[in-house]
Amino acid sequence: MKTEQVDVLVIGAGPAGTVAASIIHQAGYKVKIVEKMKFPRFVIGESLLPRSMDALNEAGFIDAIKEKGFQEKYGAKFVKGGAVCDFTFKEQFTPGWTWTWQVTRADFDKTLADTVESMGVPVAYETTVTDIRFNGSDSVTTVEDKDGNKSTIEARFIVDGSGYGRVIPRLFNLEKNSNLQPRKALFAHTVDKRRSMADEPNRITAVVHKKGVWIWIIPFSTGVTSLGFVGDPEFFAQYPGTDEEVYRALLEAEPYTRERFRDVELVFEPRILQSWSATTDKFYGDGFVLTGNVTEFLDPIFSSGVTLACVSSQTAAKLVIKKLRGEAVDWEKEYMEPTLQGVNTFRSYVMAWYEGTLDTIFFKKDADTLIKNQICSVLAGYVWDMDNPFVKNHDTALKRLARTIELTEKLKSSSEIE
Ligand code: FAD
Repeated sequence: MKTEQVDVLVIGAGPAGTVAASIIHQAGYKVKIVEKMKFPRFVIGESLLPRSMDALNEAGFIDAIKEKGFQEKYGAKFVKGGAVCDFTFKEQFTPGWTWTWQVTRADFDKTLADTVESMGVPVAYETTVTDIRFNGSDSVTTVEDKDGNKSTIEARFIVDGSGYGRVIPRLFNLEKNSNLQPRKALFAHTVDKRRSMADEPNRITAVVHKKGVWIWIIPFSTGVTSLGFVGDPEFFAQYPGTDEEVYRALLEAEPYTRERFRDVELVFEPRILQSWSATTDKFYGDGFVLTGNVTEFLDPIFSSGVTLACVSSQTAAKLVIKKLRGEAVDWEKEYMEPTLQGVNTFRSYVMAWYEGTLDTIFFKKDADTLIKNQICSVLAGYVWDMDNPFVKNHDTALKRLARTIELTEKLKSSSEIE
């Protein structure tokens, strides 16, 4: 069996894998990526957040992405009935990037993978990790190519960026359920000829259809728009028929989508994804670190997935470099805690969204500008800014604010009656 030696083996050529590979390679180490699929390949996760730009920049990817002409994204809009809450990232509280992109992931991920390959990192496509043996922090990984040929890769360190593949958690029984309720998504790409009806395309829209059920609308620069429904599996079970029949019935059932997307041409048959939330107790171990979706993917509502993938890989890559240089790394303090800080901040917002707390805040008339800008920062992905009270107190601040709004409105309406 063929054997090769590298300093760092990266599993997966998605945003997590390519960001980590590029940063470690730039520090002078021998890196190799193994990727199960042939690229371009479809993956969901099309709306980025401004916070991802810093990681993409450090990885050296920004110019190559710019050349692709993806749709620039300046904000996010939330809609419920006739009410609209519009966030513009320029108004965010935390200093940093104020824009990003809405991307077809097949093209975006191929751009990142091609760029890292052109820097000198080999990417072995259609090559699947099937086994890993650790000896201290050194490892021997068995991979299998599409023709069934097996070979081994000896590495001083492994970055697992395998996304939904969850390679290391699965091989070593580290899987744990997330505390979020299982949800389902039904989505497609649409030929969006009536886009001019809406204030788009430079932002994404999340439409509240009913409690716990919402719709994403993500316009691309090609005139195609990604549109997906997310809700409890029981919600979808009420609609009979094929996936396309259910999809079209849902487009018809929501006034916001009815007119614009009636009889819309679909680029592909609607697809289903469900029960995506999973995690592990520890995001690192002797000789490996987990980054991106392998750590935990929460929910699509705040487009946090790719940003958390890029930022966790940016952080992990620097620690891997430190470790390879023989310096001490406190993985708990330097990796686990900051990664969880980001994930848990988004978790509070995801929970507040499904509980309806954010409806109360988002759709309040005459919102306080400072508060809106602080929440805007979270929606832009700045979930590590401890100067922002809506980050620092993420688990209590939203509930407290919603309660205050409800009480004030109650008082106002009772004084109007008097
Ligand atoms: P991935 O992009 O999944 O890349 C992992 C790679 O590893 C894949 O290419 C895979 O083929 C490879 N791999 C897997 N197993 C193996 C193996 N055994 N050997 C070798 N290679 C392997 N995120 C956003 O930021 N914005 C959104 O709008 C958004 N919408 C979403 C909507 C839905 C319904 C869902 C479920 C998720 C959404 N996400 C969104 C999340 C997003 O999909 C992920 O967070 C993101 O793709 C994570 O990137 P990654 O690099 O960690 O993993």
